[in-house]
Amino acid sequence: MYKSDKTFFIGRPNIGNRDDFYRRLDSIFERRWLTNEGECVLELEKELSRYLGVKHCVAMCNGTVALELAIRANGMSGNVLVPSMTFIATAHALKWQEITPVFVDIKPSSLNICPDSVQRLIDENTTGIVGVHLYGRPCDIDTLSDIAERNNLKLIFDAAHAFGASYKGEKIGRYGNCEVFSFHATKVFNTFEGGAVTTNDDELAKKLRLMKNFGFEGEDTVSHIGINGKMAEVNAAMGLTNLEQLEDFIEINRVNYHAYRGGLRNVPGISLIHYDEDEANNYQYIIICIDQAQSGYSRDDLKEYLAAHGIIARRYFYPGCHKMEPYNSLDPHAGIRLPATEAYSKMMLALPTGTQICSQEIESLCDLIKSFKSRQ
Ligand SMILES: *Cc1c(COP(=O)(O)O)cnc(C)c1O
Repeated sequence: MYKSDKTFFIGRPNIGNRDDFYRRLDSIFERRWLTNEGECVLELEKELSRYLGVKHCVAMCNGTVALELAIRANGMSGNVLVPSMTFIATAHALKWQEITPVFVDIKPSSLNICPDSVQRLIDENTTGIVGVHLYGRPCDIDTLSDIAERNNLKLIFDAAHAFGASYKGEKIGRYGNCEVFSFHATKVFNTFEGGAVTTNDDELAKKLRLMKNFGFEGEDTVSHIGINGKMAEVNAAMGLTNLEQLEDFIEINRVNYHAYRGGLRNVPGISLIHYDEDEANNYQYIIICIDQAQSGYSRDDLKEYLAAHGIIARRYFYPGCHKMEPYNSLDPHAGIRLPATEAYSKMMLALPTGTQICSQEIESLCDLIKSFKSRQ
């Protein structure tokens, strides 16, 4: 019998030491400097570049604006290849700039963008590829980089899930032309709202800095079209505070992940995604795949059952961007070339983790899932 009377959510924020945050907030008020290249933002950019091992980190107001500026600063236009199995912001960041997102299928083994499908979909209007490190597990970066180079395409990564993760021993953040992070409240590292573009390219970083600040080069000199993409000091203060405890948050996630692994072992039809333990992972996404032929129930049945017990699981990502508007109307048959996306988007379910839940609660949650099985 499941006993917890707590409600568990996906993406409940991790919150660092409050006193440290309040202290930083006080110093912001003391300085009377709330935004525009403030001390906290500059310090956060420095700390993040160091943590990620990348030359430039340009902090922004959120991940979506960071994506839009990354796409624009790289000069993408026409058609850009992007997986449909992602959060809708990845597709919108392209379409918002009149670029056509051409949806690419995922590889069942990794659930990330399939390089073979990318290769097949390149045409004379293609200018770039946006890869997504889904659930924080890196794309096949080497193969995608080769394809981009051979076809003279820009390559950027939506790394919103992958803060702290590594690829072949090096932190995500340095790959492609640039990478884009989100520091939204639900991510492993948050600044309430926030984001960043990271790159080793000096010219690109300079352009991004101009673009996020209306194109201002000097006091009254504007040298580029720009918008307001700046991160405010209060957000950076939250970031500096949370960064100090990031490794603790990741360790909690790692312990939780292994509790789920133990609890869901040998449950027919349920498999937990694998993280490569030889790499750094943030373990922020506890994703199970429900194979109805073996489990006897669908992903949606399980989601509903868990919700009735106060466990708010989420379908990451359903039904795929190609089934959402405006993309569905623009290309109603896209699903035909996206069989893996269509299949997996009906099977994947995200379960609660982070500082809100402990190993005992996870054990009990897994027992609940097992009891659902035996009820069928
Ligand atoms: C969260 C997220 C975004 C958007 O970031 P915001 O900071 O919320 O604007 C983009 N892509 C993916 C894959 C995300 O998970």
